[in-house]
Amino acid sequence: MWLPFLWRFFVTAGVPVSASSATAAFRDLRGSLVFLGTGTSLGVPMVGCSCETCQSSDPRDSRTRTSVAVGLPDGTLLVDTTPDLREQLLRERIGSVDAVLYTHDHVDHVYGMDDLRPICFHAGRPVPVYCEERVERRILRAFDYAFVAPASPGGGLPKVTFNRISTDPFELLGTTVTPLRLQHGTFEVLGFRFGDLAYCTDTNEIPDETWPRLEGLDVLVLDCLRASRHPTHFSLDEALAVARRVKARRTLLVHMSHDIRHADVAAALPAGVELAHDGLVVPLAT
Ligand SMILES: [Zn+2]
Ligand SMILES: [Zn+2]
Ligand SMILES: [Zn+2]
Repeated sequence: MWLPFLWRFFVTAGVPVSASSATAAFRDLRGSLVFLGTGTSLGVPMVGCSCETCQSSDPRDSRTRTSVAVGLPDGTLLVDTTPDLREQLLRERIGSVDAVLYTHDHVDHVYGMDDLRPICFHAGRPVPVYCEERVERRILRAFDYAFVAPASPGGGLPKVTFNRISTDPFELLGTTVTPLRLQHGTFEVLGFRFGDLAYCTDTNEIPDETWPRLEGLDVLVLDCLRASRHPTHFSLDEALAVARRVKARRTLLVHMSHDIRHADVAAALPAGVELAHDGLVVPLAT
């Protein structure tokens, strides 16, 4: 009668509680960039689609909306707040965000901003947001409830402070951020350079003024929607042409649709070009 009890006691006593909880609750991202999402605005799999990619069991074919978290010397930076933000932060064990930088005002890059509520709650202060005027106007309209007084009771509100940016480089969280003007169809959007890494999502044209800012890159993160051409995103061939011109050591493709089945497309890429996937981490030298 007593033996099983005693055995359980020793087993339990022999495994310190701290051992089972040795993994820190949250990750230290400093010196790295993590791909929170690598999918197009519809996400992959796409609702209602039974294509091979959408039915794939390869986890790299499961793509939330495109965003990265960047571990800078003085804190964690989010680039965009996608509608998948809550899921992305939980998956990557990111418990704090020190600033948000926006590329542009499209829904798949902005509409998860309400998921910053717990970030504001834990930090006890608003999250500084860095964006162009067009993005600020979109946020003020889409999340008007967060900017009216008095605030509605219960549930909390996302609190942000706006910082207007242009294409001028600026200091943020201990590093220099260099904005990169990009053309996204008829929209002007921004990419960003941190040290020798450039992040260029949602674009189908790199203006003349931006090419010099892409020189000497170690890593280029680049939009690549699908094989065929698109009016606002680079196709695979177009992205490969940009990669050849920029000559970064690594080019990582993002914002992919279900047209890109990871294993098939990755196997056919030239040396130095890779498909990113959700959760991929790359080192960052800022
Ligand atoms: Zn997008
Ligand atoms: Zn599909
Ligand atoms: Zn877009």
